Amino acid sequence: MNGLQHQEQGGVIIAKMDDLLNWARLSSMWPISFGIACCAIEMMGAMASTYDLDRFGVFPRPSPRQSDVMIVAGTVTFKMADRIKKLYEQMPDPKYVISMGSCSNCGGPYWQHGYHVVKGVDKIVPVDIYVQGCPPRPESLIGAFLELQNKIETESILHDKFFSENMV
Ligand code: SF4
Repeated sequence: MNGLQHQEQGGVIIAKMDDLLNWARLSSMWPISFGIACCAIEMMGAMASTYDLDRFGVFPRPSPRQSDVMIVAGTVTFKMADRIKKLYEQMPDPKYVISMGSCSNCGGPYWQHGYHVVKGVDKIVPVDIYVQGCPPRPESLIGAFLELQNKIETESILHDKFFSENMV
């Protein structure tokens, strides 16, 4: 962990509060468990024993109230868009969104003629990480989580807009 100092005598560890909080947050990212199309199969593969995302502390949760990451894995239809937005709004701050696959990124193969498909989930929720592919392989999703860890590591949660807004 960056910024952590260990004092030789007495076993005292000194660290900035931001570093401690970020260390805890990036080591326990809990995505809400839902999938909306074929990309979700690869997402499930990333969670299963071969790739085992659990070793990064990534552990799917059944409720948005317990989740801080949303993986949008699949085709976002207009019918589903309201549901996705509602789930996102029910997640506590700070929260993150990974857009997994071409459909979620931009409409994918439905870009031109898919009258029923939202052309990018970032039109309804803010996206932190985009994963390319149709579908992306599990390794790509693991890479997205590593990227998200790097992003969280640089944040200053004590001065984060989410908290400062809520404390007013
Ligand atoms: S990007 Fe490809 S694999 Fe993923 S949901 Fe769309 S069509 Fe399916």
